Amino acid sequence: MSAQKEAGRTTTHRVLILGAGYAGMSAAIQLAARVERCEDVQVTLVNAQDRFTERLRLHMTATGQQLAELNIPELLEGTGAQFVRGWVTAVDAHAKTVRVDDDRVLHYDTLVYGLGSVADTAAVPGAEDHAYTLSSAQDAEVLADRLARLGSGTAVIAGSGLTGVEAAAEIAERHPELNVVLLGRAEPGSALTPKAKAYLQSALDRLGVAVRSGVEVVKVLPGSVELEGGESVAADAVLWTSGTRVSPLAAAAGLAVDERGRIVTDTALRSVSHPDVYAVGDAAAIRQGYGVMHGTCQGGMPTGVHAAVSIVRTLKGKQPKPFRFGYYHTPVSLGRHDAVVQFTRPDDSPRKVHLTGRKAAWYKETVSAAPWPTFGRMKKMPASGAFWPRGGRFTRIRSAR
Ligand SMILES: Cc1cc2nc3c(=O)[nH]c(=O)nc-3n(C[C@H](O)[C@H](O)[C@H](O)COP(=O)(O)OP(=O)(O)OC[C@H]3O[C@@H](n4cnc5c(N)ncnc54)[C@H](O)[C@@H]3O)c2cc1C
Repeated sequence: MSAQKEAGRTTTHRVLILGAGYAGMSAAIQLAARVERCEDVQVTLVNAQDRFTERLRLHMTATGQQLAELNIPELLEGTGAQFVRGWVTAVDAHAKTVRVDDDRVLHYDTLVYGLGSVADTAAVPGAEDHAYTLSSAQDAEVLADRLARLGSGTAVIAGSGLTGVEAAAEIAERHPELNVVLLGRAEPGSALTPKAKAYLQSALDRLGVAVRSGVEVVKVLPGSVELEGGESVAADAVLWTSGTRVSPLAAAAGLAVDERGRIVTDTALRSVSHPDVYAVGDAAAIRQGYGVMHGTCQGGMPTGVHAAVSIVRTLKGKQPKPFRFGYYHTPVSLGRHDAVVQFTRPDDSPRKVHLTGRKAAWYKETVSAAPWPTFGRMKKMPASGAFWPRGGRFTRIRSAR
């Protein structure tokens, strides 16, 4: 980079990106494309698998549907970025190293931490041992295998948030022979407008999903779940979709984290305790005018892009700009042919407008399929990835007088 050369520095600046999910991939592709001609910047992406996990489609994997083979090293070809396949076991924020598979040590000058999140099976006793999750493609495949062998058994989905709703609808549609039970504190679709919520609930009803809201699952046992108050609900398979948790690696490295273990960032997405570490996606606690962002792909991809742009600006001796993001939709699939798309204000509160039925299913499919074509375009034209709603007055940062 020119500023480094002007300053007489010739050493290579090593940027290490951890996690090739929606956020980490966005960071890697953006950065690689923007520093392509800079020999003094090295970009390395570390991920557990070669294959990109389309996490928002894992309820499809869980019902035996084949997803596209999206190969990360192939996508990175021609960008100059290196790919390391392996499991990150430790980050040493003082020595600026990352341990992979316990025996490899990678050095960094700038770290981008995007290790995502997983289902919070630590929330109640027994969930870790007896419940299935949609945390990874392998987890979803194990569930698919179990569901395919259940016959006319009962599948209980514990957690009535949108992941639970999508999973319940998909399982009920693909396995009409099963009893599908959706349990949770809140009514399904509670964040939507009354009309959109009513549509979602009637779709679950049409698919034969038995919904019980206002209940608290307190334990998962080998053949049942226990509710607060002692009631037992029989279950041949339990899918845990209630809440998420993040890797303990950031906290163990001494990075400042919030109560959920997410890295607390400044407005430019740098760790408040270690500014050479950027945090993106579900693993980051990013404050906006409306509160701390919650984990989604719609917000995760922009965080990756912004981190990459900020790194390039910093290498050029410029100040990174504040990150701003406003939500714009909540698309919920209800099987393969139905969906609800709730349009939202930047703070994620619902607007009046929503789509339902086939139009909504088409919309949901289009946005779900988006990352790979988006990454492909960003490779050739990085600026194409830099457009997302900034949130207007909901995220405007007023300078102190
Ligand atoms: C079933 C389901 C449906 C969803 N639907 C939607 C939706 O419709 N819209 C939406 O916006 N969001 C949706 N989400 C949420 C969305 O998937 C997440 O917010 C998003 O995946 C977060 O992206 P990320 O890049 O932060 O992390 P991830 O996508 O989780 O990627 C993290 C990556 O890091 C890797 N990794 C983790 N730990 C390690 C380690 N120690 N070493 C090496 N690699 C590691 C993982 O293997 C993975 O490749 C859904 C989630 C689920 C589970």
